[in-house]
Amino acid sequence: MQNTDVTFTTSSPEETEALGEKIGRRLQRGDILTFKGELGAGKTCMIRGIAKGLGIKDRITSSSFVIMRVMEGDIPVYHFDLYRLENEEELIDIGYDEFLFSNGVSLIEWPEKLENLIGSDFLSVEIQYDEQDESFLRRIIKITPSGKRFEDLIKEII
Ligand code: ADP
Ligand code: MG
Repeated sequence: MQNTDVTFTTSSPEETEALGEKIGRRLQRGDILTFKGELGAGKTCMIRGIAKGLGIKDRITSSSFVIMRVMEGDIPVYHFDLYRLENEEELIDIGYDEFLFSNGVSLIEWPEKLENLIGSDFLSVEIQYDEQDESFLRRIIKITPSGKRFEDLIKEII
């Protein structure tokens, strides 16, 4: 079956964060979201909004040297940044599966690094620069649901 993706365009970091917040408010325990896009595309920016939507008060930073960070809230959030991950062994070492398949929400930057380890239900977010935009503020954000839970969630946010 064809996944029904939805594309949004944002014109500022604030707008990207707001889109994240809208999604964050609807997330539940066990949800997994993946974020693809070049460095500086806006993955962490959107995650900041999602955390806000989930009621997390921590300041979300780019965690270049940290593979995973836990944010405590009503629902725990696991923010993975796999940019510097060398191999899947490193993930196994930190016991990633206890987080990924737990009762929290997992937000994963650079999911390409563990593609085979994620199940069949997740929300994929792909962020691209808009080449036409000389101000470098515009982003094209494609959201693709995988599985019924996220198909329904997408319908709610559009
Ligand atoms: P990534 O996590 O993808 O490497 P970040 O979210 O850390 O990217 O950084 C995105 C950068 O792009 C920030 O400096 C942000 O201010 C800037 N930016 C400009 N326009 C946008 C936009 N529309 N959406 C998100 N970020 C934007
Ligand atoms: Mg980032």
